[in-house]
Amino acid sequence: MGNRRLSILKRIYKLLDHVTPLNEDCGELCCARCCKGGDHDGMWLLPDEDLLLKDADFLTIHETLEGKYAICNGHCDRKLRPIACRIFPYFPMMFRTRAGTHSVKAMPDVRAMASCALFDADAPEIDPRFKQAVRRAGMLMLQDRCMRGWLDRNSSYLFDIAQMKALLEA
Ligand code: SF4
Ligand code: SF4
Repeated sequence: MGNRRLSILKRIYKLLDHVTPLNEDCGELCCARCCKGGDHDGMWLLPDEDLLLKDADFLTIHETLEGKYAICNGHCDRKLRPIACRIFPYFPMMFRTRAGTHSVKAMPDVRAMASCALFDADAPEIDPRFKQAVRRAGMLMLQDRCMRGWLDRNSSYLFDIAQMKALLEA
């Protein structure tokens, strides 16, 4: 891996080390539902992110044609949790500006909306610093071609799901 990609990944980790959706532990609201997946619920990793996770023995990393994903045992060393966990339940959606450049907006991850307690009607407000950190993480991803491709594919995928959901609910 180029040093540049490694350095960007490390910056993203640092950015999201301590910023969380709420000032308190949102896991108290739902008994940490998003950490209770089974063997078929993994977290997609960014290109080469697995190289930062060599000491994360709570993760099993799998490789597919679409990339690598990790499955955890439900407990982790927070310093080594993947980016997918750090940004949940938001996602840095990539879009094209009128000027033709790429930009990013932090938006609720449509896959999380049915299960995450932070989207309940009476949920506390998500910390704007968290949304800002998710956006900044996405802006950093734009700086690397492979990460930009990853962001583009995932943003399109989430956009398609959101559209399908809207059609079904119409
Ligand atoms: S499901 Fe949502 S509210 Fe529950 S721990 Fe995960 S991010 Fe927090
Ligand atoms: S790695 Fe940690 S934060 Fe991510 S799902 Fe597993 S227990 Fe939850």
